[in-house]
Order: sequence, then structure tokens, then C-alpha cells
Amino acid sequence: MAANPAIETQNLSKIFGSGDGEVRALDDVSLVIGENEFFTLLGPSGCGKTTLLRLIAGFETATSGRLMLYGKDISDEPPYRRSINTVFQSYALFPHLTVAQNIAFGLEMLDRPKAEISRTVEEMLAMVRMEPMADRQTGEISGGQQQRVALARALAPHPKVLLLDEPLSALDLKLRKEMQRELKRLQVETGITFVFVTHDQEEALTMSDRIAVMNAGKPLQVGSPREIYDTPSNRFVAGFIGESNFLDAIISQANGERARLVMPGGTEVEAILPAHAPKSGAVTVAIRPEHIELLPESAPGTISGTVTETVYFGTDTHTHLQLENGETVVVRQPATREGQATREQGERVGIRFAEGAARVMDDTP
Ligand code: ATP
Repeated sequence: MAANPAIETQNLSKIFGSGDGEVRALDDVSLVIGENEFFTLLGPSGCGKTTLLRLIAGFETATSGRLMLYGKDISDEPPYRRSINTVFQSYALFPHLTVAQNIAFGLEMLDRPKAEISRTVEEMLAMVRMEPMADRQTGEISGGQQQRVALARALAPHPKVLLLDEPLSALDLKLRKEMQRELKRLQVETGITFVFVTHDQEEALTMSDRIAVMNAGKPLQVGSPREIYDTPSNRFVAGFIGESNFLDAIISQANGERARLVMPGGTEVEAILPAHAPKSGAVTVAIRPEHIELLPESAPGTISGTVTETVYFGTDTHTHLQLENGETVVVRQPATREGQATREQGERVGIRFAEGAARVMDDTP
């Protein structure tokens, strides 16, 4: 994270309604978002992402807690007094105005001098590559182009922070990928702190400097895309970002950051033991499908299972297995030029975890 915090939420809670109808949309959220960061709030529908964004923008008031912008408490400042702009999912452009007029709108509201407005509009048009369309009405341009105009309009007053609420969800897949790269470029070029909301894990992984994975009004883990993917600290994060197998195990020995586990069927394996994870007893261990090796059942140190299904994806093959205790496991093997022997349904196999790939989860039973 950048040394200078741009946004700080301190024990922020938001409760909607009261009594039986009470919804705790945000539950004691303390986050620090650094200057120049591309920070993403990622989580399933209803986890509180939009509520947090609306609190930062000033469209909602917190039930408790404080909100700081560059060290200054802005909890009671109205939206227009915060140097924060929002790009909405619906773009919210004015269809009867031209592209250039839409971009100029916020600057005119701020009473900026005419010469400065036209200079900034030119600069923004170039930045989002929309110069040839400056005089078109926004009702007459494509969805992707509208998205660029919405971005240009929000960036024009040079806010300190730009909030983006699922801005790419209305675009088709190809355009969405193009706009993902475009957004990242704009963030790097302008140096503005971006707070991006999405429920799409791939979008979050490819664009963000850091991600907060949220569930039920709380960030469960905050870290770089690599940290979140490689070292998920709990079952929700491991299941939400990428795919994971979750297996029951018993810790037979804990030694610092390593544990020896007894797996179903009695096989012993090594696993990473994160600081907050339990150090003894029954635990859940997570392992990614691509970190499991498929071997003959007789191979030493493997966990035995039976193949229930093989699914071919072109780039890789997913083999579904059932272990002795009924637990299911998916193994993903990349395609090789030589091809791979496909495992038949009913075939007995052994699985082995790649070194350092199995992790004991914090929130194990
Ligand atoms: P989505 O991805 O579906 O937009 P989200 O993660 O952005 O979801 P929020 O919109 O922040 O979630 O909603 C969090 C919770 O607060 C949900 O249970 C939602 O129903 C509730 N909620 C949000 N706004 C209000 C409101 N104005 N009145 C009552 N409940 C609300």
C-alpha cells in the first residue's frame, strides 16, 4: 500500500431499518485505502459493497464510525464538498447533451473559468480516446463509448478519489476486457485513487493493487491479488476467489508455520499453518484443483479415491473424485502437447498435494 492513506474508515457501521426488519449492511468496517491505489471491494450480492461506496461518496450517513479523507474527518461533509466522484453502473449521462457537454458539466457546476473548461474537456476526450465523437449526442453512441464518457466526466474535475460501482457490468465480455485494461491505464496515468466495486473475481484480480473480500458487511481479508489467491486465510475467501477443495483433517503435529495432518483414509500430509489457524484437533484444509497430482493408487503417500467424472475443457481437464469418506475432490490438469491419459469413471487413483499448497483454514470447525 502507498505510504499516504487517502481514505480511512474507522469502525464504520450502517444499519438500515429497525426491529425485526433491521439490516446490518456494514459491520464495524476499518479499512485504509492508500493514495494512488486501485482498491477493489469484492464480494457476493448483498455483502455491503455499494453501501460502503455510498458512505464514502456521502450519499448515505453511517450509523456509527468515522470516515477520513487524507486525515480529515469528512463524516459530516455533504457529497459536493468531498473531492470524490462516482461512476455509476448506469453511467447516468445526459442523453440530450453532446459528449463534450457531458464532460464539461461537472466543471460548469463548479464555476470553473471557460478557458480551463475547454482545455480540460480536450484533455479528457484525448485521455479516453473519444475526440472524434466530441459533438455526438450521448444517446447516439455505443455502450462502451458511453462508459468512456462517464469516466471522462467523473475524472474532469480531478477528484482525489474516484468511486466506481460495477461500471463494466453492462458491457459484453470482449468490451469488458478491453475496458478493464483501459481503466487500469487511466488510473495509472491520472494517479487518482480508484475504489472499484465488483462481484467478479477475475475483474478484481486483473485490475487491483489490493482487494478487500467482503461478506455479510465485513471485509474478511485485504491483500494484493496474489496474496488473496495464494494465501486465502479463510474458507469463504478460498471458495470465492478461484476454486478450492475443502477437506476434513486432524492435526497430528504443529510446528511453527507447518502442520502434519492425518487425512481421510489415514494418509499423512504436510500443510501450511497460518498464524490464526487452530493448532490442534479437527480442521479444514484447502487445496486448489491445480495443485493436486493424480497418480496410481499404489503410489506411496497418496490419498485414495475413485474417479466419478472427467470433464475436458480444451485447455485443461477436470477429474472429479470421491474419497473413502465420501468427500469429493476436483483435480485440474493442464493440457500437454502429448495429451493425457483420461481417467475412466470408476478407476481407482491416488492424489498428492503439491509442496506448500495445502493450507489449514482459520475458520475451521
Ligand atoms: P449488490 O452486488 O447486489 O449490489 P452489495 O454488496 O452492493 O450488493 P448493498 O447494496 O450494499 O450490497 O446492500 C447490503 C445490504 O443492505 C443488503 O442486505 C441490502 O438489502 C441492504 N440495503 C441496502 N440499501 C438499503 C436500504 N436503502 N434500505 C434497506 N436495506 C438496504
